[in-house]
Amino acid sequence: MQPGATQEQIKDVEERILHFGFEIHPIYGVERTVIAAVGAPELDRSEAKEQLESLNYVESVTLVLKPYKFVSRKFRDRTVIPLGDVEIGGDTCVIMAGPCTVESEQQILEAAQAVKAAGAHILRGGAYKPSTSPYSFHGMGIKGLELLATARDATGLKVITEVMDPRNVEQVCEFADILQIGTRNMQNYDLLREVGRAKKPVMLKRGMWAQYEEWLQAAEYIWIGGNEQIILCERGVRTFETYTRNTLDLNAVPAIKELSHLPIMIDPSHGTGRASLVPSMCKAALAAGADGLMVEVHPNPAKAIKDGAQSLTQAAFHQLVDELKVLADALGRTI
Ligand code: PEP
Ligand code: MN
Repeated sequence: MQPGATQEQIKDVEERILHFGFEIHPIYGVERTVIAAVGAPELDRSEAKEQLESLNYVESVTLVLKPYKFVSRKFRDRTVIPLGDVEIGGDTCVIMAGPCTVESEQQILEAAQAVKAAGAHILRGGAYKPSTSPYSFHGMGIKGLELLATARDATGLKVITEVMDPRNVEQVCEFADILQIGTRNMQNYDLLREVGRAKKPVMLKRGMWAQYEEWLQAAEYIWIGGNEQIILCERGVRTFETYTRNTLDLNAVPAIKELSHLPIMIDPSHGTGRASLVPSMCKAALAAGADGLMVEVHPNPAKAIKDGAQSLTQAAFHQLVDELKVLADALGRTI
């Protein structure tokens, strides 16, 4: 309560809390009163919080319980998602690699073969591309999905690709092994509900502005929609730094492991925006305990339609995976 709140005001708040279904445990101080609300009524706590905070005699309302439940570490210790021969969230650090965007049959086939030869487990490639500018290339769409399926048939690699529109979820599910939700759509709740109904694993990228709690609440949407196969991916957040495209928040790896049972991937390509920084940040992510890495690799980064500056050449990627294997060995993990 605000200092100096009157008896009637305190009583009013107590009655409201009782009305929500909680028990009250007040501490009446000389200067101010604190009222603990105990119990677990089936109600949206943040709505109750908002209502109480709108009273000018309430100073603040603090939620003690987390606003997510099923994706929380308290609910489960660890989630492992099986996908063919790979497991996401198991002991192996899973590597997803490929171009930002599917550009042509030759490009995606060449990239797929190269990343497979280097040791990647999953092929990435965008068919529907979100873009800050409405004038940019927005992907090949259905043709891009077909080319990803061709690359899967040719290499045996599983495929991950982004879905942006709730109306396309069914279509993307026909081609993809994992659905990717991009940073810009982390809080697109209609889309989250729709992929919640899908039968494919979903990789939820962190919004570039989002706090861990908001990210986990977004994951909770997918879970309560009925889809428990959720993978989180940190891809960098906006800060004041301009040398890098984003600031890769590696705190997210151990922090998410404390808060949630879901696997966490790291995307140092978008996290740095610079190919020269990607190998170091991959190693740091592996050392921090990431369940996997997502890396952009292009047959010819200088000619890439999108994200060439942050894309590794195939040779650089091959060398990176070799170095990661040595590091994994030292860490008691596998690639
Ligand atoms: C991508 O993976 O190419 C992409 C667009 O990622 P993000 O949503 O993290 O920007
Ligand atoms: Mn990209």
